[in-house]
Amino acid sequence: MKIKNIFLDRDGTIIQEKHYLSNPKEVELFPESGPTLAAMQKQGCRLFLVTNQSGIGRGYFQLDDYLKVQKKLTQLLSNFGVSFTDTAYCPHRPDENCSCRKPKTLMWESLSQKFHLKPEESIMIGDKEADILFGRNSGFICTILLLTGHGQKEAEKLGLPCLTDAWMKLSPQKPGWPDIMAQDLSAAWQAVQNEYRF
Ligand SMILES: [Mg+2]
Ligand SMILES: [Zn+2]
Repeated sequence: MKIKNIFLDRDGTIIQEKHYLSNPKEVELFPESGPTLAAMQKQGCRLFLVTNQSGIGRGYFQLDDYLKVQKKLTQLLSNFGVSFTDTAYCPHRPDENCSCRKPKTLMWESLSQKFHLKPEESIMIGDKEADILFGRNSGFICTILLLTGHGQKEAEKLGLPCLTDAWMKLSPQKPGWPDIMAQDLSAAWQAVQNEYRF
């Protein structure tokens, strides 16, 4: 199977994790994000952003703030020639029990219908267990946990082995474990290029 679609978390994956980010001025790309996303697109992969934004439902900020942050992110990435095919967000609080908050899969279902995507051609990259479970619950061929953002803490919580290289494959796996762990987005892309075809 070939990888055609790369699903990405936003906070702690593409941009610096800022607690309930709502100010576009605070959007800060990781140094590797622009070049890596550009390389993914050059390889022919479509990029999709899927992000939980419960700060909206919690009343910490407004939908409009999210949209401004998204616009800033779009601008920053356009400097690298990068654009998402589409983006999706969940605005709900966890206690609202919606179907779109990762690890649930409504964002996948909506995007896959809209763009006729196949889970076996899709991978998920994120910095939290919820991202990994989102990819697994959606039937993706590969899930990758980054150690940026909340990733280091999440790796410890999941009992993952220490990362001694830029990335490593995890097999056999335990529940909640990703297929691959990587130190950052660039290392994740190295792993994908090494392990999969396009
Ligand atoms: Mg995140
Ligand atoms: Zn939701």
